[in-house]
Amino acid sequence: MNQRDTASFQNFIGGQWVSTDRQFDNINPVNGSLIGRVHEAGAAEVDAAVRAARDALAGPWGRFSVEDRVELLHAVADGIDKRFDDFLAAEIADTGKPVSLASHLDIPRGAANFRIFADVVKNVPGESFEMTTPDGGRALNYAIRVPRGVVGVICPWNLPLLLMTWKVGPALACGNTVIVKPSEETPGTATLLGEVMNEAGVPAGVYNVVHGFGPDSAGEFLTTHPHVQAITFTGETRTGEAIMRAAAQGTRPVSFELGGKNAALVFADCDFDKAVEGVARSAFANTGQVCLGTERVYVQRPLFERFVAALKTRAEALRPGDPHADGINFGPLISKQHQSKVLSYYARAKEDGATIVTGGGVPDVPRQLREGAWIEPTIWTGLRDDSTVIKDEIFGPCCHIAPFDTEEEAIALANASEYGLCTSVWTSNIGTAHRLAAAIDVGLCWINSWFLRDLRTPFGGSKASGIGREGGVHSMEFYTELRNVCVKL
Ligand code: NAD
Repeated sequence: MNQRDTASFQNFIGGQWVSTDRQFDNINPVNGSLIGRVHEAGAAEVDAAVRAARDALAGPWGRFSVEDRVELLHAVADGIDKRFDDFLAAEIADTGKPVSLASHLDIPRGAANFRIFADVVKNVPGESFEMTTPDGGRALNYAIRVPRGVVGVICPWNLPLLLMTWKVGPALACGNTVIVKPSEETPGTATLLGEVMNEAGVPAGVYNVVHGFGPDSAGEFLTTHPHVQAITFTGETRTGEAIMRAAAQGTRPVSFELGGKNAALVFADCDFDKAVEGVARSAFANTGQVCLGTERVYVQRPLFERFVAALKTRAEALRPGDPHADGINFGPLISKQHQSKVLSYYARAKEDGATIVTGGGVPDVPRQLREGAWIEPTIWTGLRDDSTVIKDEIFGPCCHIAPFDTEEEAIALANASEYGLCTSVWTSNIGTAHRLAAAIDVGLCWINSWFLRDLRTPFGGSKASGIGREGGVHSMEFYTELRNVCVKL
């Protein structure tokens, strides 16, 4: 069954398309045009999704062996590959990201997230302990992994398919059922995945999608539902706090991937061109809407002026425009609302006395794109450490560059944030690299690289950037309960 002909985004519950009479617009951020109408799920639809997910656990899905699930996850990945162009079109319509980015990152990773966790689940090591019993006999303990049950998956808009499948892949690999609440800004690919799930033969109720917003809408109804047994969330730290309060009812486990205010540290002994290229990518890729993005750049003093000039050249070479057009490598922000937020920080930087190296406003785009959420890539210098521009996550294509002198100072600057998601260190000194990796309080530290990902590795943030780790076996930890079995022999 295909539901997209109507240019509407319906809920996917128990393998069926479910419409509602509360609908909201899905807007293309490239030009402000209407993509379609989204059917908002209320408490009744969320409850129906939870029932469908529970029924699937009690029904055929609960009887699937690991091998059966692995085979099905590969079929889902193949289904995404087969409909690559549909996924690409849906992701670009919702986000406006350039085709070069979405076709190399978002959609391939959507399929990879099912394949990798199908492999991981087959290879998780078990544990067993033999013991002597008080009566001198023997007993054997072994732990089995059981699915948590119905998992609520709450997603953001910046990498919609990639971040959603990063959670759905392992959750299904472990035998759970899921209810996905995609961002209200990006309903497309989660909806399309429902079609692929049906085409691949995934039993009804295993994968469900409910559309809507957070408070008093699908997000809140899902996270407060007593039969949702675990919640995995990617989004803003403040939203994470609200979800954590909801999850406290029934002491349900959460996995949180939250905001960041990441620092790049560029040492004078780095490979200059690679550092400029890496930092430019980390600041401006996906129009700066990447949780791992760099908004604070610290450069060792001898390199400072040269680095600022080189990053300015990179920023000014970015080409905004129609995401499907040749040579376009810079998309809009996700929405006019987010554009206002980012522009308010651009104004704040000015008020706080920043030197605007480049950007600072809205670019000149062709007339047909003027209703889009366009923004200029922006670089500042000269701000004080206590400016909110240095402290808050802006989530736009902007960064502040400041000089440092010593390694100790670089560590202190990187750590001077409520967030602790990631850092990138650019140096040719292996000693500096290892010392910084140990001293900076983050979940992910890249040396001479950025966003280089092996999906088997732990992913997540410290401080206000998250709770827990996902990736490889760490995802298995979250999406299963360990049950110890003790057998008196
Ligand atoms: P957001 O927190 O505004 O929204 C995320 C999701 O939560 C949306 O689906 C939204 O509808 C839902 N939501 C909002 N309020 C809710 C509530 N009270 N209850 C239940 N659900 C609710 O985040 P966003 O603006 O969509 O995404 C950008 C943020 O995500 C940034 O802070 C970014 O750093 C973060 N992010 C983090 C990672 C990571 O891996 N750490 C990855 C990507 C994005």
